[in-house]
Amino acid sequence: MNRPAQIQKSLQDLPVTPHWSDYDAERKNFSWSAVRDQLTGLAGGGLNMAFEAVDRHARGILADKVAMRFVSRANPALDLSYAELARRTNRFANVLQTLGVGKGDRLFVMAGRIPELYVAVLGALKNGTVVTPLFSAFGPEPIATRINLGEGQVLVTTDVLYRRKVKALREKMPSLQHVLLVAEEGGPTQEPDTYDLASLMDRADDSYSCAPTTADDPALLHFTSGTTGTPKGALHVHGAVLAHYATGRYALDLHAQDRYWCTADPGWVTGTSYGILAPLLLGVSSLIDREEFDAQRWYTLLEQEHISVWYTAPTAIRMLMKAGAELAKTHRFEDLRFVASVGEPLNPEAVWWGLDALGLPIHDNWWQTETGGIMIANTPAFAIKPGSMGRPLPGIEAAIVAHLEQDGEPARLRTIDTPDVEGELALKAGWPSMFRGYLNNEARYQKCFSNGWYLTGDLARRDADGYYWFVGRADDVIKSAGHLIGPFEVESALMEHPAVAEAGVIGKPDPVVGEMVKAFVSLKNGFAADDSLRQDILGHARKKLGAAVAPKEIAFLPTLPRTRSGKIMRRLLKARELGLPEGDTSTLEAGA
Ligand code: ATP
Ligand code: MG
Repeated sequence: MNRPAQIQKSLQDLPVTPHWSDYDAERKNFSWSAVRDQLTGLAGGGLNMAFEAVDRHARGILADKVAMRFVSRANPALDLSYAELARRTNRFANVLQTLGVGKGDRLFVMAGRIPELYVAVLGALKNGTVVTPLFSAFGPEPIATRINLGEGQVLVTTDVLYRRKVKALREKMPSLQHVLLVAEEGGPTQEPDTYDLASLMDRADDSYSCAPTTADDPALLHFTSGTTGTPKGALHVHGAVLAHYATGRYALDLHAQDRYWCTADPGWVTGTSYGILAPLLLGVSSLIDREEFDAQRWYTLLEQEHISVWYTAPTAIRMLMKAGAELAKTHRFEDLRFVASVGEPLNPEAVWWGLDALGLPIHDNWWQTETGGIMIANTPAFAIKPGSMGRPLPGIEAAIVAHLEQDGEPARLRTIDTPDVEGELALKAGWPSMFRGYLNNEARYQKCFSNGWYLTGDLARRDADGYYWFVGRADDVIKSAGHLIGPFEVESALMEHPAVAEAGVIGKPDPVVGEMVKAFVSLKNGFAADDSLRQDILGHARKKLGAAVAPKEIAFLPTLPRTRSGKIMRRLLKARELGLPEGDTSTLEAGA
């Protein structure tokens, strides 16, 4: 395939006119107050995420439109209209009221992707109650730790999960007053010290007047993925809804006629910001699949559910690549028009694979739990440069910065304006979805800011066209013989080898060069892990990267250790390599 440096777009080729096409003009004319004017707001000047996402539409022409379509292997599909979602979330808010749970109280949800989870999240937001979604696959300890850290008063989960994961540790969660159970095994549930959620919902009124929240009131508490260490709790406010709305338009190009699928679980911030809020804010119909990854099932859903906008993650794309493009080509994705990815660097190989297998390039975008929404993205408005995470969205000012240490003085920041120089990625503080604190760790929060910039902890460079290129996390960068080597560059080169499905690269201490580059690789189906393949991959990497940057060692693994949100845990590869303690593994995917 001919591979130019950019994938150009032309308006004539697009089935839907994108929300924007002039990057510079849109950035220049942008204001957050104009975004606020697109939303309704509460009487008296307040703002509430769930009101904007649900009630606003339930009162208008979208009332009967499908807001969420739930599918699973075991049950027939369930469609909830905006009006029905409004009624159910009202009921849930009334349930909380009856229990004496109000504004500022804390609620945790832990369930598979079932309707009750979505109703609880949105209903609690309407009630002003602060919500934390947890992965249902977490073990008992990580659940208890997070509920204790967040001083959760309410937990919504299922009877099965409660018995398996919560009951034995309930005494160790003193803040937890109310446990509301969804009956998975036929209700009502009879567990002592719990409520049967369906019975409470049946008795609750389906009208509710939204709590008087303001843009600065806390809304969501999200734990980070734990890729680099113990997960941190990042607090977000209702005002973040402005960013969800704006970025849903700019980065995902969501239009009301779209059928949208975000594959992220709400246990991870993507599953909330873009799996729940952004599509609802834009009046879109979302698909929610309860099942775990399965290449055949995913292709079938994309095709049969007529998905037009798809938001997924590199780990899923790599798994689809592993399954082979042939499988994709047995399907026709006639409605698909826009594909985006987040969570990890998207190797150029994956962007090209999208073009081959799906007929569309994949738009990488970058953000963090802390940023609450997409900050830098490949968008419909400009050409994609495969391997780049794109350009800052309107309303977002990004920079590459260097830290200047001076004798006895605190470190100062300098922005690097020369193109193609590596440094830390920073964002001008103050966008609406910026986190407002790390739970119980004000000192760490303060350390993230300097001279009005938020420091992301990621290293990147910006090219002369203003595109940002991810280099690696500050913690993962390898220092070898005086070079700074970003793992992403090495991993991307390895991914271009036809046998490589996934690659994770670490620096291994070495007496001569400081750190030497070691790669861990998992192979595509049909390739055998033997020494001749190892030599072949090493040779390929040397040719692409040069001897100074290419790995010196390659180890084959069946799969790489990943977080539940799908990120390669390089710190774990390193700890295992060096025989060191593994640290916090609460977010490690099972079997990794
Ligand atoms: P922790 O902070 O607990 O170590 P985490 O940083 O992985 O976990 P998240 O907030 O889920 O938790 O992930 C954000 C990070 O993911 C970013 O800081 C960045 O390192 C990485 N990331 C996200 N999107 C991209 C992308 N498009 N390209 C490169 N890296 C990305
Ligand atoms: Mg992080």
